[in-house]
Amino acid sequence: MAGLPYIVGNWKMNGTRAMLNEVRAIDRAAGRFPRIQVGVAPPATLIYRAREAAEIIGVGGQDCHTRDNGAFTGDISAPMLKDAGADFTIVGHSERRTYHKESDADVQAKAQAALGAGLGVIVCVGETEAQRDAGTAEAVVGAQVAASCPALEEAPEKFTVAYEPIWAIGTGRVPSLGDVEAMHRAIRATLVDLYGESGQGVRILYGGSVNAENASDLLSVPEVGGALVGGASLSAESFLAIVGAA
Ligand code: PGA
Repeated sequence: MAGLPYIVGNWKMNGTRAMLNEVRAIDRAAGRFPRIQVGVAPPATLIYRAREAAEIIGVGGQDCHTRDNGAFTGDISAPMLKDAGADFTIVGHSERRTYHKESDADVQAKAQAALGAGLGVIVCVGETEAQRDAGTAEAVVGAQVAASCPALEEAPEKFTVAYEPIWAIGTGRVPSLGDVEAMHRAIRATLVDLYGESGQGVRILYGGSVNAENASDLLSVPEVGGALVGGASLSAESFLAIVGAA
């Protein structure tokens, strides 16, 4: 298995300064779990303050631009995230792919920009419900991994993949443990095809309706190296229950 279990909270478009208390509480508790890597991706407006509020956990962005700077109103670049104190960023979340029409090539360029700025990067992939029903989930996700992951000879240490079936995000539904295992094994095989042996070292997170009740089962599945948590990461209590389950 690749590295320490990695539990990451994705706050999406949620959080004002009042939620820095959750960051502090997560950070204090993370000290009790030295064998687990914990990260929180608050909205970009809170990255600087979250970095100041936390000592142990990683703080991340939820997206970055492919370029370092320029005339891109409303966008934020990877070096800017780094400058604000981020340690990593998520790229290619299905909400970005859907609402912002991001292609695999966009996601790949973002992942490369993040690594180039010295950030860790979590590349998200996942199938729709129709693709799962049609039996094409593994082919779809394999193609996404091949086309969205950074085009490098070897997999860098700071690179993580998150498998998030779109139909499981925010719905309370999760795939069977067998389906999770089959998909994670398929992603691993693709990573080894892409990067050779170093593809074995890439952590593959599961995301989509992870909560305190299902976390320990999901995290015990072979090739599941951690979790990307949305809704349940918005309170320190429910997020820490997932960290504890790892
Ligand atoms: P969820 O979101 O845990 O609320 O399903 C996960 C994600 O979108 O990363």
